Amino acid sequence: MKTAIKQLLGRTIFASRLDGLLLRKAAVIVAFHRVHEAAAPDDSLSVNVEMFERHCRFFQRHFRVVRLADIVEKLERGQPFQHELAITFDDGYRDNFEHAAPVLEKLGLPATFFVVTSWMGTSVVPWWDGERGARHSWMSWDEVRTLHRKGFDIGVHTRTHADLGAVRGSEAAEEIFGAKRDLEAELGAPADLFAYPYGGRHQLSEPNRELVRAAGFRCCCSSVGGINEDGASPFDLQRVPISFWHRSPQQFGFEVALGRTRLTA
Ligand SMILES: [Zn+2]
Repeated sequence: MKTAIKQLLGRTIFASRLDGLLLRKAAVIVAFHRVHEAAAPDDSLSVNVEMFERHCRFFQRHFRVVRLADIVEKLERGQPFQHELAITFDDGYRDNFEHAAPVLEKLGLPATFFVVTSWMGTSVVPWWDGERGARHSWMSWDEVRTLHRKGFDIGVHTRTHADLGAVRGSEAAEEIFGAKRDLEAELGAPADLFAYPYGGRHQLSEPNRELVRAAGFRCCCSSVGGINEDGASPFDLQRVPISFWHRSPQQFGFEVALGRTRLTA
């Protein structure tokens, strides 16, 4: 379907409050990576600042924007969802601190930042940026602590962005338990939210999902798309990745309302 039509339908669905009906017993978790001034059209991990703010205002208008921990708590207590949406970020890029956090603060919205613990404050270039000849800065630990102090949540995204569908045994334990220890030592506070790297179905083995549970995390997020319904497992939370591909918040609304956010790849 053409993007323009999706946008129109998205606007109509939300305007008519049909969204309330469609998503009544569901919670949506969105995942961003980078938010910066000039996102290239082929950069699937970025949105520009202006579009980020439009998305946030859309979330605020049509959902109850809550902390990810609130969604987890509802599942732990067996309480029904009431149209919640949580905002998350993966990896720990510095533009999250520079560009996303000020917009969130301005609008009074909570968010969770999942960080790759061994990359914060370094100049590591991950393979996906290297392939594009791109180099993006990571947050420093001081910046991560500043976000935490401002009331944002910081979660674990492993130590080295490991594929938890591939690594096993002590290597997997280091990536899960070790990253939790690292983050808690840096924050001086407990860290119990986890999102696994790459986020595809095959990128987390069941033994490693059990390690996430054993390490004391309260949740485990994928990024294959999809929404979370009452009774879902906190260790199998679905997130909708948002990128430049979403030309408008209305298009996002359309995909979510009709349950079409799941990636087929
Ligand atoms: Zn990641």
